[in-house]
Amino acid sequence: MTEQTQEPFARPDGRAVDQLRPIDFQIGIAPHALGSVLVSFGNTRVICAASIDNRVPGWMRAQKVEGGWMTAEYSMLPYSTHDRKQRDISRGKADGRTIEIQRLIGRSMRAVFDLKKLTGKTIWLDCDVLQADGGTRTASITGAYVAAQIAIQKLIAKEELEENPFTDSVAAVSVGVYKDTPVLDLNYPEDKDASVDANLVMTGSGKYVEAQSSGEEATFTREELDTLLELGAKGIAEISQLQKAAICEGLK
Ligand code: UDP
Repeated sequence: MTEQTQEPFARPDGRAVDQLRPIDFQIGIAPHALGSVLVSFGNTRVICAASIDNRVPGWMRAQKVEGGWMTAEYSMLPYSTHDRKQRDISRGKADGRTIEIQRLIGRSMRAVFDLKKLTGKTIWLDCDVLQADGGTRTASITGAYVAAQIAIQKLIAKEELEENPFTDSVAAVSVGVYKDTPVLDLNYPEDKDASVDANLVMTGSGKYVEAQSSGEEATFTREELDTLLELGAKGIAEISQLQKAAICEGLK
């Protein structure tokens, strides 16, 4: 009788299933922006910059909406991917993925922000992917919060803002099912073969802002979803601590 041997499960980079990639925040990468950071989740690296505009969008002025606004733009630099990605400006329009991601970043930030306290100002959050290796949208959200929080604290120090409008911190991470196993923080080789792909956006206090999960030519069970949510919550708790430390360091 022949015995069937099954290969033991292993992630391409050898991480444990609940292990994040090495995360790093390089603060002040774009000195002309009030707040900026180069955030790395392993080989995914995104420049996030927060700039202040002392006006609100036309629709807010027209509708006499009080307070300020915060919005985001996302792009992948042409050389961030293995095959050069054409700039949107050369193509003449942003693709659907870009629009979806930048709206997600803006929503994630506004969920933990009291816009009424930002009277007359707009915060622009620019997220530009320098190197893509999976999870660029979750890295963008994580870095955008750090850049925005630094910008806000600098505005307060300059006496251009009275109170901090942030009500909580926000971070994001991807989770997914790779080779039938739920894993945290997928890199590109995992992402491309994952049967379930999920992006979780959560606050530092553990509440959800967004939980998107989709089967990729596959379905998933309630049990798998519960495991993914647990992995994500563990990851976000760790990322939130790293964000806190990076902001403190960045404001020294
Ligand atoms: N990717 C790419 N070119 C693209 C879009 C995506 O090379 O035009 C790669 C990139 O490594 C990215 C990954 O595919 O991180 C997964 O893309 P997805 O759309 O799932 O978004 P992400 O995981 O980056 O948030």
